Amino acid sequence: MELKITCIPGDGIGPEIIKEAKKVLDKVGECYGHQMKYTDILMGGASIDVHGVPLTEEAVAAAKAADAVLMGSIGGDAANSPWYQLPPELRPEAGLLGIRKALGLFANLRPAVLYKELAGACPLKEEISAKGFDMLIMRELTGGLYFGERKTVEENGVRKAMDTLTYDENEIRRIAVKGFDIAMKRKKKVTSVDKANVLDSSRLWRSVVEEVAKDYPEVALEHMLVDNCAMQLVRDPSQFDVILTENMFGDILSDEASMVTGSIGMLASASLNDTRFGLYEPSHGSAPDIAGKDIANPIATILSAAMMLRYTFDLDREAAAVEAAVEAVLKEGFRTADIMSQGCERVSCSQMGDLLAEKIG
Ligand code: NAD
Repeated sequence: MELKITCIPGDGIGPEIIKEAKKVLDKVGECYGHQMKYTDILMGGASIDVHGVPLTEEAVAAAKAADAVLMGSIGGDAANSPWYQLPPELRPEAGLLGIRKALGLFANLRPAVLYKELAGACPLKEEISAKGFDMLIMRELTGGLYFGERKTVEENGVRKAMDTLTYDENEIRRIAVKGFDIAMKRKKKVTSVDKANVLDSSRLWRSVVEEVAKDYPEVALEHMLVDNCAMQLVRDPSQFDVILTENMFGDILSDEASMVTGSIGMLASASLNDTRFGLYEPSHGSAPDIAGKDIANPIATILSAAMMLRYTFDLDREAAAVEAAVEAVLKEGFRTADIMSQGCERVSCSQMGDLLAEKIG
């Protein structure tokens, strides 16, 4: 199979981690008989330096022409980089917002996995972390409070601000379908998170999710109020498989779930539209403090590439091979600096890529 992948190395550690992800993908291609066709595009600071803008129309066209986009990270050190002297619409982050919009990405997926070998990094009590966890937060990305009408007015000398939370049933249905589809590839459980005891938008959310669930009889559906979910994530994260939720709740819960893993260099993510197309990137930023030193952890990007194999290309076996390689290398005691612990062997970014590629096949 031919896999057309547009890569955005980006800024900071981005080019280093994308290089390692390509190394692993190339090995997957070699072992399983696929051809990787990469096109690299500039975005963020790298694009500002060359084109004066963080995202060009040519770059968007190249992204659209591919089956999937694999991104490193964009952005720099806001206190020192000249990119941040520019107006907001010309700064690196504007490129990211622009490409997400251009590609119609409405579903954000963030897995939070606690590997047994990294349990020491988990800030939860040992009796909780010992059970491990492997969940995925599916967040609606283009609706809700962040995109509703807003205004600030003054009434009788008192300032008043208003934000509106709106969802229509189609927006809810398309993300629910994605959530159930993905649960079918996992442990077949969906926890739909809302605030249906208070919000109309949540009551609609709940009823549309129930309608969609009828098409997935194998998937167990439960509803959970968002405040309870925030507690359950630290009380017993092992109970979750897919958490399906709206934009703002997902924003908050996905950061909470990331924190309980304790390892920022390990967290993958994906943003999908209503085709098989997706943009895959690590959850972390461009880490300008360690850029160019070959010490970054490439695993979040490599696990994002595994998500790409599974969700865009339907290559479950190949994705599982990449994930198994990560587990095996951790089990053998190899660690990049950010996840280093006593008794383990410290390796560089490129050595980690080599070790993972060696394990495939
Ligand atoms: P960051 O995630 O880049 O770094 C936070 C800390 O984690 C730093 O100490 C860094 O060295 C470390 N870290 C991050 N990733 C690592 C990895 N793979 N291996 C080892 N250590 C790692 O967050 P920040 O410092 O707040 O942001 C830096 C820049 O990244 C900013 O310009 C920000 O806007 C941008 N950013 C981009 C994205 C994106 O492209 N999607 C996301 C978040 C932040």
